Amino acid sequence: MAVLEILKYPHRILKKRSEEVSQIDEEVRKLIHDMRETMYGAGGVGLAACQVGVSRRVIVLDVNPMDPQHTFFALINPEIISEEGEIDHEEGCLSVPNYLEKVKRKEKVCVRGMSPEGTEMEVRGDGILAIALQHEIDHINGILILDRVSRLKREIYRNKLKKEKRKEEKP
Ligand SMILES: [Zn+2]
Repeated sequence: MAVLEILKYPHRILKKRSEEVSQIDEEVRKLIHDMRETMYGAGGVGLAACQVGVSRRVIVLDVNPMDPQHTFFALINPEIISEEGEIDHEEGCLSVPNYLEKVKRKEKVCVRGMSPEGTEMEVRGDGILAIALQHEIDHINGILILDRVSRLKREIYRNKLKKEKRKEEKP
């Protein structure tokens, strides 16, 4: 198992729609193990494969990492099959460091996908789980929280990054 590097905005892989997984094999299961380690290592509640540079439709989540009961799960080729209500919630992202912003989401979702064992799985969630599911599914569709905020807010973040970069480049 390995902790992988988490790619940051504006890496181009993060903007790309990830590819369907056609076969759940050892390689996919190893990727899931590594994503799990990487997510816990970074203190996140979810991670998509594209964030570690693998453009495949795989997500991992654990919205209660402190819970001794394991609430970790992985979903392959996840798809939202139903949704309900609306909610505004402040979100952050491991690929968009030092950024928190309110994002409009569905309050409840039902997601269907495959488990690492290759069986069909349905996850129904509300609250943080629903938000995290939508956030990670956005990732595999090439969408970041920055794409879900106003242009002005996006520009402010971009300018901040530019400034930081300039500072780093100065000798
Ligand atoms: Zn994210």
